[in-house]
Amino acid sequence: PACYTKPKAKNFDHLLSLEAKSRQASTLKGAARYLKNPGIISLGGGLPSAEYFPFESIDIKVPNPPGFSPEATQQFGAVLHAGKHDIRDGKSLYDLEIALNYGQATGSAQILRFATEHTEIIHNPPYSDWQCTMTSGSTYAWDTALRVLTERGDYILMEEYTFSSAAETAFPLGVKTIGVPIDAQGLIPEAMDEILSNWDEKARGARKPHVLYTIPTGQNPTGATQSAERRQAVYKVAQKHDIYIVEDEPYYFLQMQPYVGQGAAPPPPPANHDEFIKSLVPSFLSMDVDGRVCRLESFSKVIAPGSRVGWIVASEQMVERFVRTFEVSSQNPSGISQVVLYKLLDEHWGHTGYLDWLIHLRLEYTNRRDALLHSCEKHLPTEIAHWVAPAAGMFHWIEIDWKKHPGAAAGKSREEIEEAIFLSAVDNQVLLSCGSWFKADRSAVMDKMFFRATYAAASSEKIDEAIARFAKCLRDQFSL
Ligand code: PMP
Ligand code: PLP
Repeated sequence: PACYTKPKAKNFDHLLSLEAKSRQASTLKGAARYLKNPGIISLGGGLPSAEYFPFESIDIKVPNPPGFSPEATQQFGAVLHAGKHDIRDGKSLYDLEIALNYGQATGSAQILRFATEHTEIIHNPPYSDWQCTMTSGSTYAWDTALRVLTERGDYILMEEYTFSSAAETAFPLGVKTIGVPIDAQGLIPEAMDEILSNWDEKARGARKPHVLYTIPTGQNPTGATQSAERRQAVYKVAQKHDIYIVEDEPYYFLQMQPYVGQGAAPPPPPANHDEFIKSLVPSFLSMDVDGRVCRLESFSKVIAPGSRVGWIVASEQMVERFVRTFEVSSQNPSGISQVVLYKLLDEHWGHTGYLDWLIHLRLEYTNRRDALLHSCEKHLPTEIAHWVAPAAGMFHWIEIDWKKHPGAAAGKSREEIEEAIFLSAVDNQVLLSCGSWFKADRSAVMDKMFFRATYAAASSEKIDEAIARFAKCLRDQFSL
């Protein structure tokens, strides 16, 4: 977006990997710019003809704002139509002829415009040359970020418990992980500063880390959300040590209403879009005066994970390096996904309808989270089980005081007791994730014990039954 009052992003050449610096523009994608010449007949590209795409049209039934319930959709939902030649026929700005062919690695211009406008509405980055580019989801975008920013042998910083796939993306690339200590608000800036200030290249056998991977909102697995002040403090440490921040934010719009406990009157939902946007905790992107943040966005948790569509936001320099990588890997997200999302988000809902949808999700997730917390309060033995109500995301992180387990006195290790509780829960027909699965640094010694439960997948009745089963298993295990 043209904006001449904001400064430009800093240059980050010195943080780019050898791989990123070696990438040239794709020879064939480069020739595509001549297609704009009026009257040109292209025999140069390798684009198949749309005649041979066996899809004439796609119809999709979707809900109308604001009545998003499944029943309302079945009765009153709209059917959106995407035809092969809608652009030629003047019916739409996007059609199957375009969506189903090869495209630019930035993703379709139509959906990219929507993503860019949405980013401006929500985050309004404080520098001028920010850009977006579409991705095939954040998993792929993170793999690309590692390729763009790191070398084999580097260390990166992560929350000490993190999305295990994110760590497992790094390991085979030869990238090692340092877990930064966390509290109820996630990353502790002082702890991050200490790690970086005391980095011993010789002892570590690696240069000082220059990348932070963080999940600031509704963190997976801990459910923690960094406050605005916490993010400012982390950003300051990043500036001090010249750290590039990758913020992975699939749960940003799963920020819920405050938890008030059973019996208390629920806080009123946001009265309008402005109030809703103001209620959201500011992103790292929104405070990124240097252009040292790459924000990973995903439709997975707010529309559908199987769409495999997301986007990134970063400075023009960084986005260009990502696009060069996508050109020779994922190319662009699926055309079928892009056209379906465009029909829904741009042509049917628009930005206001999408915000209505996000408010709807906020209220739905609030109900689910509250149901899970009520079940925990009702069933779990609080002598040994502790938790903080999550403010965002899909996860509840339950700490278990394993030292009170009879096995601990008998010399059993934390690992053995965790395994015993996990297997006993499975025997009692409830599946939870073990905290140790999420260690950023797999060799780190854990002193605490956690289990992760999600409220996203099951109904309130099923959640209550599952927590009752887990409570029984804890009582048996701890002889309570
Ligand atoms: N391999 C070869 C030999 C090709 O010619 C092409 C397309 N021109 C591709 C791979 C790209 O395939 P895809 O669209 O499935 O990524
Ligand atoms: N990042 C985090 C922190 C996640 O928890 C998940 C999903 O579990 C993903 C990324 C995956 O996102 P995507 O579906 O966009 O690849």
